[in-house]
Amino acid sequence: MATAIDTSKETHADVAAAEVLRRFVGYYKPYKALFFADLVAACILAGVDLAFPQLLNFFTREFFTESPSVILGSLGLIALLFIALYAARTGCQWFITYWGHVMGARMEADMRRDLFEQYQRLSFGYYDRHNTAVMMSKITTDLFDISELAHHGPENLFICTLKIVGSFVLLFMINGPLTAIMLVVTIVMAALSFALNYWRRRIFRENRERMAGINAAVQDSLGGIRVVKSFGGEDAEREKFRAANEAFLDTKNRSYKFMGAFHGLNSLFTGLLYTIVVVGGGYFVAAGTLAVTDLAIYALYVGIFMAPVEQLINFTETLQKGYAGFRRFIEVLAERPDVATKPGAPTLAEACGGEVRGAVDYRDVTFSYDGTHPVLDGLTLSIPAGTSVALVGPSGGGKTTTCSLLPRFYDVAAGAVTIDGVDVRDVQLASLREAIGIVQQDVYLFGGTVGENIAYGRPGATQAEIEEAARKANIHEFICSLPDGYDTLVGERGARLSGGQKQRISIARVFLRDPRILILDEATSALDNESEHAIQASLAELSRGRTTITIAHRLSTIRNASLIAVVEDGRVLEQGTHDELLARDGVYARYYRMQFGD
Ligand code: ADP
Ligand code: MG
Repeated sequence: MATAIDTSKETHADVAAAEVLRRFVGYYKPYKALFFADLVAACILAGVDLAFPQLLNFFTREFFTESPSVILGSLGLIALLFIALYAARTGCQWFITYWGHVMGARMEADMRRDLFEQYQRLSFGYYDRHNTAVMMSKITTDLFDISELAHHGPENLFICTLKIVGSFVLLFMINGPLTAIMLVVTIVMAALSFALNYWRRRIFRENRERMAGINAAVQDSLGGIRVVKSFGGEDAEREKFRAANEAFLDTKNRSYKFMGAFHGLNSLFTGLLYTIVVVGGGYFVAAGTLAVTDLAIYALYVGIFMAPVEQLINFTETLQKGYAGFRRFIEVLAERPDVATKPGAPTLAEACGGEVRGAVDYRDVTFSYDGTHPVLDGLTLSIPAGTSVALVGPSGGGKTTTCSLLPRFYDVAAGAVTIDGVDVRDVQLASLREAIGIVQQDVYLFGGTVGENIAYGRPGATQAEIEEAARKANIHEFICSLPDGYDTLVGERGARLSGGQKQRISIARVFLRDPRILILDEATSALDNESEHAIQASLAELSRGRTTITIAHRLSTIRNASLIAVVEDGRVLEQGTHDELLARDGVYARYYRMQFGD
């Protein structure tokens, strides 16, 4: 089992950078007013910061040279001016911090909703190709990075640019040559920092992949905790986790090395600039081109642009993480489900002329999961409405795959699957799946109550209908004996119920759904003899009057089927009734003797 996830193996729709940007801007649309207010607040904030040295300049050089009585008489007014300015700045700071984040969080929620809806839309094929732990990390960490960018992005860019441009303009006004030197040093430092980014990008990608590796290891171990404990696999799991954990620590270490270098560079930058201010400033003062008071103001402006330059360089990290995350996000959204309803398609009932009878036909069906190895290879099978067919054959022969094509979990590569003569690809997917009920070996119960789990068969069913379905599935009495009856929580994946009980709940679901066509895929294989025997009766009751495809190894089930089809190597090798096939003395007869003895 792989502990690290190789995301490079994932297939993706390719999305151009312009499209990524367009989609990103699209998420701002509902929050236009908020976004605009955010920018205005950013503007005011930057303006106040830029104004301070100017005001100080004015007061120290012009105003405070007046007589003490004039100065003292105006202090009240000056206090009011400063209080007003900084009250405005405080308000803006609050607005940006609070509403900016709220906006980011809302956009993140919108994106998360879109991603989740897309996950619901995507077909089985996508789930076969992608790791669920990776899919989960997309919906959590990636989207967090994106919201950081969405919120801090434009406003940071705006404030920093305003401050940098504003202070350079003012610096140039004070002293051109000195500022030209500053500008060159700043550009060189910024270029160096950007060069460091290549390194950063690699480390971050590794970090992310290894975090996903940890998630996968945890998910795997916790999901299979029963297997782990029953095989005494705790030590092996610990070892597996330790490897993933240390790999992560290793990349973390490297990212701290990077941070050390990066922050060191920033500090060097600060030192360099102040050295230039003092030494260069001294030179120009001596040369008589710079007033000493101007030098103090000059130093203040240097302080104002230094922080934004650092922020802007740091911002490339947010930008990179956010962009990469958003790109991955858009790539998932751009995936087209392999299986989807054709535009304007009718419902199955409409296509069948009002009522679905449930005759199922496989016509020369070819199918492959990966596009290369054929799993079904010219499979042809005809099941008259309301009858039952039993598929038998070796494991891996293609029985489950055959059943998966009927509700279009996958689409055929060639040939066709039809219901009452209507190609399943020509009707609305929801109506098709509504007509088909499936009972499988593995039962998935959702977190929630027993009643809710049965109601999954038909949302909106009344309590009476749920109980009726449970009665038919022979589970009503048991449910009533539970502490909270139908409101009893089943525990994660039904951990508190036995295999037979879970299977009965899944049968009740299908009773409630009342489909025309039924697929029973080894529904009783995981059960002990006694439970299996008991459930057979419920299944027989369930299949009455419905077209039923059964995959079973039980003689009684197979024998009762109106038709038996032997599926091997993706083809129907033989078909007929039990007696016909025995008389024919072919594959089935051999298979039968092998399975059940003579
Ligand atoms: P059966 O139900 O008769 O045991 P299946 O239809 O499950 O057989 O499997 C037929 C073949 O398809 C097997 O070789 C199996 O490995 C392969 N297969 C089944 N499901 C998938 C899948 N989701 N992705 C790729 N291959 C699959
Ligand atoms: Mg199978």
